[in-house]
Amino acid sequence: MTLTADQVLFEKAKRHIAGGVNSPVRAFAGVGGTPVFISRAAGSKMYDTTGRAYIDYVGSWGPMILGHTHPKVIAAVKAAADDGLSFGAPTPSETTMADIIADIVPSVELLRMTSSGTEATMSAIRLARGYTGRDKIVKFEGCYHGHSDSLLVKAGSGMLDIGEPTSQGVPADFAKHTLTLPYNDVSALQAAFEKFGSEIACVIVEPIAGNMNMIIPSQHFHDTLRQLCTDNGAVLIFDEVMTGFRVGLGGAQAYFNITPDLTTFGKIIGAGLPVGAFGGKREIMECIAPLGGVYQAGTLSGNPLAMRAGKAMFDELTVEGFYEALSAKTAKLVQGLQALADKHGVDFATCHLGGMFGLFFAKTLPQNFGEVSQADSQKFAKFFHGMLDRGIYLAPSAFEAAFMSIMHSDEDIQKTLLAADEVFGELSGT
Ligand SMILES: *Cc1c(COP(=O)(O)O)cnc(C)c1O
Repeated sequence: MTLTADQVLFEKAKRHIAGGVNSPVRAFAGVGGTPVFISRAAGSKMYDTTGRAYIDYVGSWGPMILGHTHPKVIAAVKAAADDGLSFGAPTPSETTMADIIADIVPSVELLRMTSSGTEATMSAIRLARGYTGRDKIVKFEGCYHGHSDSLLVKAGSGMLDIGEPTSQGVPADFAKHTLTLPYNDVSALQAAFEKFGSEIACVIVEPIAGNMNMIIPSQHFHDTLRQLCTDNGAVLIFDEVMTGFRVGLGGAQAYFNITPDLTTFGKIIGAGLPVGAFGGKREIMECIAPLGGVYQAGTLSGNPLAMRAGKAMFDELTVEGFYEALSAKTAKLVQGLQALADKHGVDFATCHLGGMFGLFFAKTLPQNFGEVSQADSQKFAKFFHGMLDRGIYLAPSAFEAAFMSIMHSDEDIQKTLLAADEVFGELSGT
């Protein structure tokens, strides 16, 4: 049997890279088969090593909102590289970036850049603990906040039990400080605060979930969460690493009209370069070193390439009408997919906001992690491979959201719908 180019590359990769990938979802474990190795990308498309084109709805898991190799972003990176890659000293471009984010997101009074979203959430939690002098943190089932110890925790066997690690290597002593609640569930929130209110340092939440496919929670959930945090002196952390500047310019906090105490960012703000940030209320942020006693640092934090790429990207995002145009593309695709699934009698549900969307093989739209888990993952895997065979690159997991870029054309969307028509037909046997 002859191997495909990707199979050869994957075997080679596995010789010295653990599992052949540098982040697990890339291995296609959720859908089976061999990952596609990418050689380059432009606009809405990625190209494999044989030159085959794929219309890309992953967008590096969100950052590529302008499409790949946007000329102004690439020019900014090239100019920054000519000036030097890193100095370990302050640069004006860091101030520019902080000013831009604080201008767009009113809840951010002070901010600190990091090199990844994981660092941002980890640091925000340490800060919340330092500020409140409390240890317990609350997170939600199905939300992902990066891979630091306290966050790789699931609910214990009873609803208000101490957490259990979801990864080997996380000490039970760490996990016991993390309480994991069902997402989008007001009564679970109330029960948790009733029992532990005075011990909770912070609640961290994906204000719109994008790491269990996509869930837009109720306004009531967010209003209750904000009120309970305020009443109990707990820091409310919105993890907008994915949703920030993605579901709309002001992120999920603008959509729900909620002012979190701290917000974490990542993905989009670096336009594809490694970056993260956390920021919020001045009084809380002033607790970090060198102003306060909570330690946080980073050799490459605020890297000039990432800052100047981010600045070039924000120049485009803030153009009047950008998010309207992006949202219209997403709506057109998602509504088209739903109509085709209906035509073929395939159980299918969708949601979307701004440049982000969720596709489920389910009769009704899932509202929490349990319901996402009940969607038909085998159908999803077949759909994924059917689309991939037709040159459409979706997230290789039923537990991931999908992303639209401003470079996706009407023609791209029509091609995607044509492919989906065939694949839904295969799935239904019509
Ligand atoms: C991707 C993501 C993270 C982690 O960011 P990395 O840059 O991968 O470390 C944290 N929170 C959310 C909501 C994310 O989507």
